[in-house]
Amino acid sequence: MPELPEVETVKRLLAPQIVGRHILEGIALHTQVIAHPGADAFCDALRGQRVQGIDRKGKFLLMNLESGDYIVIHLRMTGSLYVAPPDFPLEKHTHIVLKLEGDRELRFVDMRRFGRMWLLGKDEEDSFSGVKKLGPEPFAAEFNGSYLQDALSNKSRAIKDCLLDQHIVTGIGNIYSDEILFASKIHPQRPASSLSAKECQRLSKLIPQVLLRAIEQNRISPEEYLKEKGQGYRSTPFFQVYGKKGQPCPACGEPLCRVMVAGRSSTYCPSCQK
Ligand SMILES: [Zn+2]
Repeated sequence: MPELPEVETVKRLLAPQIVGRHILEGIALHTQVIAHPGADAFCDALRGQRVQGIDRKGKFLLMNLESGDYIVIHLRMTGSLYVAPPDFPLEKHTHIVLKLEGDRELRFVDMRRFGRMWLLGKDEEDSFSGVKKLGPEPFAAEFNGSYLQDALSNKSRAIKDCLLDQHIVTGIGNIYSDEILFASKIHPQRPASSLSAKECQRLSKLIPQVLLRAIEQNRISPEEYLKEKGQGYRSTPFFQVYGKKGQPCPACGEPLCRVMVAGRSSTYCPSCQK
């Protein structure tokens, strides 16, 4: 599943290709992707609107339109978005096509169809997408050691589980929680409330560092991104521990272990992470 660094990569790639352009037509090939309003209303409302900007909140993308309306997009497991010329072959699992001025199309492709789009009116209350319930961004000034210590102080759940909780901090999923905990030398099963002030401080600094580094490593040209059809931008070769059970720890050489935490698989170093 794309996590904050991947969604940020998509945002940075799409922005120069779509911002400032008018949407000529919206086509919903599979309507279930549109969670709000209905597919017809969605397509009707978009016609003629100009894309003013694209933003990210946690793992959500927000496409802002000049009218003040905006589209909230969640890629979920396998969703991808890319801009292509109209004659670029249409993939099998293409669900939404937004025809833009300047002979280009913004396409939403999703093999597993868990990805969703919501169109919100300028003054409409967003009680649909979940964006309003998100906790702070890892890069926000309010996300610091004392915030984290407060947020974790009454949580007996494992720290890995808390990092996945989008109300505590947004954008982290299974991959980057493993990477962050390895960088922080914290065992994924530690009860969150057992973290010291010093550990919370360190964790609050390492979270944005690990994510920023991944954003840098994800860097891809628009040409390469299109060739990969909006996939293939993940910084997989750079992962330190995620998915590397049995391989030597990059810090100490001990074999990495895997454990289930709150139903999610977690890879860690038993010697480095306490
Ligand atoms: Zn180690």
